[in-house]
Amino acid sequence: MFDTTIAAIATAVGPSGVGKVRISGPDSFVIISKIAFTGKKEPLFDTNMEGHTIHHGYIYDGDVVIDEVLILLMRAPKTYTGEDTVEIDCHGGVMVMQKILETVLKNGGLLAEPGEFSKRAFLNGKMDLTKAESVIDLINSSNKFAMDNSLKHLTGRLSGKIADLRKELLHEIAYIEAALDDPEHYDLTGYDDELKGKLSVIKAQTSELIDSFDNGRILKEGINVAIVGEPNVGKSTLLNAITGFDTAIVTDIAGTTRDIITEHVMFGNISLNIMDTAGIRQTDDPIELIGVNRSLKAIEDSDLVLFMVDGTTPINDYEDEIYNLVKNKQVIMILNKVDRVTVVTPEEYKERYDLPVISVSAKNNEGIELLQKEISDMFFNGEVTFNNEVYVTSVRQKNCLIEADKAIENVLNSIENHMPEDFFSIDIMAAYAALGRMIGEEVGDDLVNEIFSKFCMGK
Ligand code: GDP
Repeated sequence: MFDTTIAAIATAVGPSGVGKVRISGPDSFVIISKIAFTGKKEPLFDTNMEGHTIHHGYIYDGDVVIDEVLILLMRAPKTYTGEDTVEIDCHGGVMVMQKILETVLKNGGLLAEPGEFSKRAFLNGKMDLTKAESVIDLINSSNKFAMDNSLKHLTGRLSGKIADLRKELLHEIAYIEAALDDPEHYDLTGYDDELKGKLSVIKAQTSELIDSFDNGRILKEGINVAIVGEPNVGKSTLLNAITGFDTAIVTDIAGTTRDIITEHVMFGNISLNIMDTAGIRQTDDPIELIGVNRSLKAIEDSDLVLFMVDGTTPINDYEDEIYNLVKNKQVIMILNKVDRVTVVTPEEYKERYDLPVISVSAKNNEGIELLQKEISDMFFNGEVTFNNEVYVTSVRQKNCLIEADKAIENVLNSIENHMPEDFFSIDIMAAYAALGRMIGEEVGDDLVNEIFSKFCMGK
C-alpha cells in the first residue's frame, strides 16, 4: 500500500459536458472534507464518511466557490486502485477541472504520474498485467473492434486463457519432479508420449495467439492503406471522398502531391491509415523522384494497396509496372472516373491482373460504399471473427508467447531425442515463467514502470 495520495484529471482535457478529477490514496477523504461543502459552506459529510456514496456539493478554494459538483466516495478495497478513492464530477471546462485539481494538490494531494492509478491497481493486486495493458489500449482504441478486444482483455479472457495454460504446465512439472523424487510411486513409463500429446495441444494455442498478433495490430492501429497509381488518376480525390474532408491537395498538375499525407480515418467500422502518395511514374525531376521513392516505401508499409486507374484513358505499360510493384500485397483495383465516358471496363482489368476491381467516381462519391464493403470482407470476413476471438495486441505479450512457444518446442525436441525427464522440466518451467511474465506474475519493477508510464494521466 502507498502512503501518498495522488490526484489527476481523469477525463479528456478539453471542453466537454462533464469532467472528472480523481483522488486515490490514504488521505483522499481528508482532502475532500477540506475542500467540499454545501452552498452555505457547511460540512457536507458526516464524520464516518461512508464509502460508495454520492454527495452533491461545492468545491471551495478558501472562500471562493469553484464549481458545483457530485462527489463519489469509495472506501478501499472495493475501488479501481484498491485504495480509498474520491471522484469529483464537475463541469467539463478545462479551467474548472484544472482549478479543482490545483485545490486538491494544495490540500495534500500529489499530481499522479501517467498511468499511476492503474499501476497502483496492479500493485495492489486489483488487476493483472494483461488487463492493465488493455486499459491503455482501451484509452487509445480508435474503433469499435479495437474497443471490443480491449474490453475482452479487461474482462480477463486472455489472462484466463494464459492462466489455464500455466496450470497445465505446472501440473506436468510437478508430476515429473514427483516421479523423479519418488520413483516407487510414480511411473514414468509411457509418459513421454503422453507429455508430447499434451504439449502439442498447448503449443497449438500459443502459436495461435502469436499469429493473432498481426490481426491484433490491425485492430488496434488500423489497416495501413497505400493509394497508388499514376498522376492524375484521382488518388487525392479518393482520399477526400473517404475522409470527407479537404485534406489533400487536389489538382490537375501532375506530381504536386510530393509528400505522403497519412490520414487516419474511420471508414464504416474499420479504421484506416491512408497514405496518399505521389503518383508513381518514371521521372528525372529530383523532387518528384523523392515522391516516387516515398510511394515505394508506402507500398512496403501497407497492409492493403488501392491501385487506382483512370477509366477515361486506355490501359498502358506504366500500369503493368505499378502492378509488378504491388502484386505481393493485398490489392484492390479502383477504376476511377466512371462518371465520364470510359474506354476500359472493370472486366478487362480483372482479367489482366486477376484482382478485384471496384468502379468508382471519386469526384461524385460513387462506389465508395462498395469499396468499404470490399475492404471489410477482405480483412475481417464480415464481423464474425471479432465476436469470439481474443487478439494479442501488445508486442511485449507477443514476445512472451514466442519465448514460451520456443521453450515448449525444446521439450518436444528433447522428447524426440529421448533425453532424460529432468531436461523436460527445465524447459517447461521456462515456458511457465514466460507465460507468467505475460500476465505479470513474474515481472521486475523496471517492466512495471515501463508499462505504466504509457498510460495517460488520470487512469
Ligand atoms: P492524383 O494526382 O491521382 O492525386 O489525382 P487528383 O485527385 O489530383 O485528380 C486529378 C484530376 O482528376 C482532378 O481534376 C480531379 O478533379 C479529377 N478527378 C478525380 N476523380 C474524378 C472522378 O471520379 N471523375 C472525374 N470526372 N474527374 C475526377
